[in-house]
Amino acid sequence: MNGKDYYKLLGVSRDAKKDEIKKAYRKLAQKYHPDRNPNNKEAEEKFKEISQAYEVLSDEDKRKQYDTGRLFTGSGAYGGGGYGGGSPFSGFEGFNFDQGRGQGYTFTGDLGDIFNIFSGGSAGGFAGGSPGRGRRGQRGNDIEVTVNMSFDDALRGAEVPVTMTRNITCSTCQGTGSAPGTLPETCPTCHGRGSIAEDQGLFGLSRPCPGCGGRGTIIKNPCPSCRGAGIVKQPKKIKVRIPPGVKDGSRIKFKSKGEPGAGGGPPGDLYVITRVAEHRYLGRKNSNITLELPITFSEAALGTNIEIPTTDGKVKLKIPAGTQSGSKFRLKGKGAPDLKGKGKGDMIVTVNIAVPKKLDKKQKELISKLEELAPENVRAYLK
Ligand SMILES: [Zn+2]
Ligand SMILES: [Zn+2]
Repeated sequence: MNGKDYYKLLGVSRDAKKDEIKKAYRKLAQKYHPDRNPNNKEAEEKFKEISQAYEVLSDEDKRKQYDTGRLFTGSGAYGGGGYGGGSPFSGFEGFNFDQGRGQGYTFTGDLGDIFNIFSGGSAGGFAGGSPGRGRRGQRGNDIEVTVNMSFDDALRGAEVPVTMTRNITCSTCQGTGSAPGTLPETCPTCHGRGSIAEDQGLFGLSRPCPGCGGRGTIIKNPCPSCRGAGIVKQPKKIKVRIPPGVKDGSRIKFKSKGEPGAGGGPPGDLYVITRVAEHRYLGRKNSNITLELPITFSEAALGTNIEIPTTDGKVKLKIPAGTQSGSKFRLKGKGAPDLKGKGKGDMIVTVNIAVPKKLDKKQKELISKLEELAPENVRAYLK
């Protein structure tokens, strides 16, 4: 093994007691802490080394593994990382300092209060990479809800009530998951560590404890309110302002209206998806509004003015003489508001010539006469 001697690094004997190790580390850490030695590579190196030594020697199990030569301490450990950026412990083979969540080892020894002696009281330059204490709170979850709206409300915009279900700390057990008056017990499988060591030759590997799922504790008497989860779902009603111009399936973001964060973390966002009901006769195509308009044969042939209902009230649409079935007319600016605030779309009117389904004798005669008076070969192009 080519690693450094952890005992020598801390200047303690091999049979040093826990207190002694802590005291020695504290003294050295104060001397070499990056906050006290800005831009001093040597001090930073030294600080990493003594921190690594302390991390191992302050933990009974790891110390035992180290003493018996089962813990990898080769050079290159602590590689990369650096402070304030990624994990300073990346490259430290054999352990998994992945910020906890109950997976693998977490770094929750006495280091927290040791670092509190430095200015700012926090793990300062350590924050980015320091698992355990001193890390920032967790951001709350995003929430997605669906709201139903009428066609008109989608055009005008509306204030709609939204019921969101948020996870909140169970008030019966204060989040412990244990019935009131009881406490979670230390897991007998891993003795509270949350992980168990697997001996694989030189490398001391670990995996999450199967007994407790990595939490380190087990709940014997689950809280009746949350069934041991520590969190409960709570419906909450709020009103949100839906902007004018949403479509069926629009997704609108309301910043910071999601689940509250934990430990001082920021809240998540709320996303509202709009389900817009169909209109009796109007349609939507992006920011355009569509209308199918039936006209009679004589209206199409002779031309006419027809009153059209629009979002801005009634408008007269001129149908010129000789209008064909399927012709489209565009009413500029009579569409839906653009969601990004870029004015309004248009209204597209498609005319369809309605052919009478029932004709009496007199009507039939008149139409036949019309055909005789103005014979027109409409299918000339087929020849
Ligand atoms: Zn366990
Ligand atoms: Zn509870």
